[in-house]
This record gives sequence, structure tokens and C-alpha cells, in this order.
Amino acid sequence: MTYLFAGLAALLAFVALRIGKQIWYTYQCPGEPALYDFWYGRMDKKSQAHRNVVTHLGHCERCRETLYRIQKGQPLEDHLVD
Ligand SMILES: [Zn+2]
Repeated sequence: MTYLFAGLAALLAFVALRIGKQIWYTYQCPGEPALYDFWYGRMDKKSQAHRNVVTHLGHCERCRETLYRIQKGQPLEDHLVD
């Protein structure tokens, strides 16, 4: 019985860690190079990185603006100046 609870606790900790990691990655800005790869299709659509960018863009205005700039074809340097 003790083993069962230990197993359950381990499983729960594993699941919680995975969810926590997912939330952490969702809130982390992927950075402009990743957004470039995302926009120009250089990122595997089935990859975790791609999913992270999609989820992240849903609630990060800064990255949406960056992506918008990438879509407009403005170079990265413009962003660094201001
Ligand atoms: Zn962001």
C-alpha cells in the first residue's frame, strides 16, 4: 500500500513538473531569432518550440509586436536602436 502511494506521489510530481515547465516556457519570450524561424517556416510545426511560440504569442504583446515587425520586413537593428 505504501508503495502505491509512493508511486502515485512520484507520478503526481512528474505531471506537476511537466505542467510547470510548460507554463514556464509559455511565459518565456522565445527571442527574435526564434520568431524569425517561426515566421519563415524554419521551425518544425510539430515541435515543442513551435507550440511554445504559438501559445506565447497568444498573451505576449511584445512578441506580437516583434513578429509584426518581422512580417513587415524591418531589420532587427531598428529594434535595438530605440
Ligand atoms: Zn514574449
